[in-house]
Amino acid sequence: MKVTLPKDIIEKIARDRNISEEEAAKVFLDAQDKANEVFNQELGRAYEKTGDDPDGTGIRRFTPREIKEHLDKYVIGQEEYKKRLSIAVAFHFATVMYLQGHPEDRKVKRFRKKNTITAGPTGSGKTYCVEVLGDLLKIPVLTVDATDYTEAGYVGKNADEMIRELIDMAPGTNRREQAEFVSRYGGMIFIDEIDKKAKEGQVIGHDISREGFQRAVLKLIERKLVPIENPYSPSVQIQELMNRNRENKGKNLESMISTENILFLLGGSFERTSNSLNSIVEKRLAHGGNVAEDDTFVIKGFSAEREDPSRRQMHNYYKQADANDFIKFGLLPEIVGRSPIRTFVNPLSKSNLIRIMTDTEDSILTQYKLEFDLFEVDIEFTANAIDFVAERAENMKTGARALVSVWEDILTDFQFELPGSQFEKLVVNRRLCEKPTDVLLEMLERSPFLDYINTFRQEHGIELDITTEAREYVTEYARQTNMQVSQTLKNKMFGATALGFMNIKGPFQITRAMLEDEKYFDTLFTEWYRKDSLKQQVQPGSSENSGA
Ligand code: ADP
Repeated sequence: MKVTLPKDIIEKIARDRNISEEEAAKVFLDAQDKANEVFNQELGRAYEKTGDDPDGTGIRRFTPREIKEHLDKYVIGQEEYKKRLSIAVAFHFATVMYLQGHPEDRKVKRFRKKNTITAGPTGSGKTYCVEVLGDLLKIPVLTVDATDYTEAGYVGKNADEMIRELIDMAPGTNRREQAEFVSRYGGMIFIDEIDKKAKEGQVIGHDISREGFQRAVLKLIERKLVPIENPYSPSVQIQELMNRNRENKGKNLESMISTENILFLLGGSFERTSNSLNSIVEKRLAHGGNVAEDDTFVIKGFSAEREDPSRRQMHNYYKQADANDFIKFGLLPEIVGRSPIRTFVNPLSKSNLIRIMTDTEDSILTQYKLEFDLFEVDIEFTANAIDFVAERAENMKTGARALVSVWEDILTDFQFELPGSQFEKLVVNRRLCEKPTDVLLEMLERSPFLDYINTFRQEHGIELDITTEAREYVTEYARQTNMQVSQTLKNKMFGATALGFMNIKGPFQITRAMLEDEKYFDTLFTEWYRKDSLKQQVQPGSSENSGA
C-alpha cells in the first residue's frame, strides 16, 4: 500500500530530532497510530455514555434530544408533537433496556407506559414521525388503520392480529426469533383513525365494533399475552391437536408474547360533522367548562351555531384538548387514562409544504431527481414551480399527501416520454407546472393536434381531420382562457367519443363550427342512434321472414 506523507512535517521532524527522513517518517506514523488509538478510546467512552449496544444489534439508548434532532431532518414543523413523541419514545425504550438488565424490578415496580394520543389533520406527519423513528431505533414499527379491525369473532381483523403483524416486521430467521426480538427490545404500534372507533353521542345499546375495538386495544395496552401464531390458522390447529394427544394441556407459553414492551401510539383527525374534538374544546373554553352532559350550555344566551366557523378554522383547539375532551369525543376513559401523553399536529401551511419539498432529507423532489437520473435525465425545479405546487396542494386539504398527487399530475407524461429520449435536462418551471402537456409537446416538437389525432386513431380507429380554422379557434380560445391547447382541444372534443360508436369509415373532418357548438356531437349521435335503431327494427323482421 502506498501512503503519502506530508513532506514539510517529515522534514521538520528530521531537522528537529536530527534523524534521517526515513526515521522521521516512522516517528510520524507511530504518532499517528497513537492518536488514532486515543481517539477510538474516547469515541468508545462517549458511546458508552450515550447508550450501549449490549447484543450487537445496533439498538442503543437515545436521548429525547437526539431523537428530536433526527426527526427534524425529515419532518417539518410539528414541534410540539416531535418533542413529546421524542420524550415518549426515549423513555419507553430506555426503560425497556433497563428492565432487561433488571428483570426483578418489573415485579416490584409498576412502570407506566408513555402511550400517546395525537389529534390533528390528515397528512400532516402523525404516522410519518413514528416511521422515521423506527428506522433510527432499529425497532419494529407497525402502522395500522383502526377501521380495518373489529372485535374478535366479527368479520374483519381482530386486534391481536396487530401484535402478530408487528412480529412480522422484526428481524429474525423464524417466527419465534422474531417474537423474541419484540419481547426483548419492544416495538411501536401506531393505530391511526382511532377516532373512527369512538362512540358517537349516546349510542343506545352496545356499539359492538367501535367500542369492542377500543376494549380490545385497551387490553393490549394494559398487558396481554397474545399467541404469536394466529390460533385459527390450519397449521396451528393441527399442532394444537397433536399437543392435546400428548396430553400437553394448557397454554403453550413459549408461543405467546406479552405486549408489555410495546409502545402504543393512537392518532386520528378527531373530526366529524358535529361534536368534533375542536368544537368540544372550543365550547369548553368559551363557557368556562359549563357544558352539561347533554351538550347544552349551562349559561344561557350562547350557542355554538352563532360562532363564526372561519374562526374555528384558524384556531387549532386540539392544542388545548384534555383527557375529558377525548372522553367526551367518545374514547374509553381507560384508554385515555392509559395514554398519558396527549399531543397534536397542526395543519400544514403553504410555507410548510415548500419546506417539505426543499428542506427534508428524503423529499419528494430528491426522489424525482434520483428517478430521472436513473434514465440519464437531469431534472431541476425552480422556486416558482415549487411555490405553485405548494399552493395547489394546500388547497387540496390532504396535507403533504397532496404533494405527491400534484407532482404526479404534472410529471406523468414527462416520466413516460423523457427516458430513452434525446433530452438530458429538464427544467421544471412554473409554466411547465401550469401547462405540462403543452410544454412537453413543444419540447418534442409535436403539435397538440397531431397528438390528439394519433390518440383518437388508436382509441377509436377513426382518422380525424382537424381543419386549420378549427385549430386556430382552439389555440385562440386556450390563449384567452389561459388553458393548455391540448386540454382545450380535449374539452371541445368531449362529445366526440360518440364517433367511436357510429361505425364511421374513412376520415372525419372536424370544423370550427362543430367545436363551437357544445351539443354538436351529442346531437349527431342521437340522430345516428335513431336511424340505426329504425334500421334494426326493419332488419330482424326481414331476416326472420327470409329464414322462414
Ligand atoms: P397522517 O398525519 O395522516 O398520519 P402522514 O404522517 O402519513 O399523515 O403523512 C403522509 C406523508 O406526507 C408522509 O409519508 C410524508 O411523506 C409527508 N409528510 C406529512 N407531514 C409531513 C411533515 N410535517 N414534514 C415532512 N413530510 C411530511
